[in-house]
Amino acid sequence: MRLAMPRLFPWLFIAWTTPALAETLALTGGAVWTGPAAQPIRNGTVVIENGRISAVGRLRAPRGATVIDCTGMTVLAGFWNSHVHFFERKWANGGTIPAPELERQLEEMTTRFGFTSVFDIGSPGENTRRIRQRIEKGEVRGPAIRATGEVIVAPGAVPPANVLRMLGNLPSENHEVNSAEEATAAVRSLVASGADGIKLHLQLPLPEDVIQAVANEARKAGKPVFVHPSSRADVMAAARAGVDVLAHTTPFAQWDGAVVRALLEKRVAITPTLSMWRFLLRHDRVTMQEKAAAEAVAQLNAWHAAGGTVLFGSDLGAVEYDPAEEYERMARAGMRFAKILASLTQAPAERFGEAAERGQIAPGFAADLTIVAGDPATNLRALTAVRYTIRNGRVIFRGKP
Ligand SMILES: [Zn+2]
Repeated sequence: MRLAMPRLFPWLFIAWTTPALAETLALTGGAVWTGPAAQPIRNGTVVIENGRISAVGRLRAPRGATVIDCTGMTVLAGFWNSHVHFFERKWANGGTIPAPELERQLEEMTTRFGFTSVFDIGSPGENTRRIRQRIEKGEVRGPAIRATGEVIVAPGAVPPANVLRMLGNLPSENHEVNSAEEATAAVRSLVASGADGIKLHLQLPLPEDVIQAVANEARKAGKPVFVHPSSRADVMAAARAGVDVLAHTTPFAQWDGAVVRALLEKRVAITPTLSMWRFLLRHDRVTMQEKAAAEAVAQLNAWHAAGGTVLFGSDLGAVEYDPAEEYERMARAGMRFAKILASLTQAPAERFGEAAERGQIAPGFAADLTIVAGDPATNLRALTAVRYTIRNGRVIFRGKP
């Protein structure tokens, strides 16, 4: 049967013989963190077959396997960035950017920092989906992209197209809503056009029934809701509505115990975007920058100390690309390495329904891996010293030694 198949289905034969799929890959000699809570396996081996992890432990590379020597390196589950945007002008006409240039741009923003999965929470949806298609077809190397597409906002909350262009961004046909009915219709339309989640942007406030309507309709469609809050009232309303992810800390609104309790009760997760505040306020007085940055760190500290879920998210695409500062600020908020690792791997995989095959290094899991030089558990800077980014068993980025 297996021999007869290729004649009947030549495309299947091609799939079987594509090296990336047929090859057995063995990563040897590194310290392997199978999960954020586990002790690393020193001098461990990860075996990858057909894009999946087939074995992990202190074992020999199988015969005939292609070996990547990871001596002196740390092997981690592939990183997620749960707050990114493909809205810079460079992504315009995503379907026709020459492949080498598109790949270079994806590398600069994502794969060179080890991101194998990203959640884009606000960009022109059709354009981002075109970029994703080209990655998924294998035309260019890049991360798995999920995207909310256009955001839901109050009328006038987002600057007009000419201002956005001047600021370096693509214009976007956002859904401006005035009522719960319009919000429900906006969610339906986004879901129908292929959105993987819904982003509610509260740059200007919206009434609580609108927030509720968005959350209810998105829940029916099984899509996570991300909220950009501006005030304490926004955070409380988002918590009451039971949204999935708070897209930012809010340094201009204090988080007292009641805020933390409300968010915990509804199991809301947070993408802290700590370094975004420094970037956003870079034209403001130094003391204001410092105050906001310190408040954001204090909020994250209160949140994770209370047991709240943190998803690594930096507002990538709206800020500088290098996540080193974000990791450093998370550590300043009291997050130990294992917790930062959880925010990059297991926590997002769980939150977005992929816990059975991503977020850990275990047999049967997808071979999404981030391999860094050195030991990030003792030196956090090592998290950005990425040597290999592997997605579904394929090397999508190779760093220089
Ligand atoms: Zn953002």
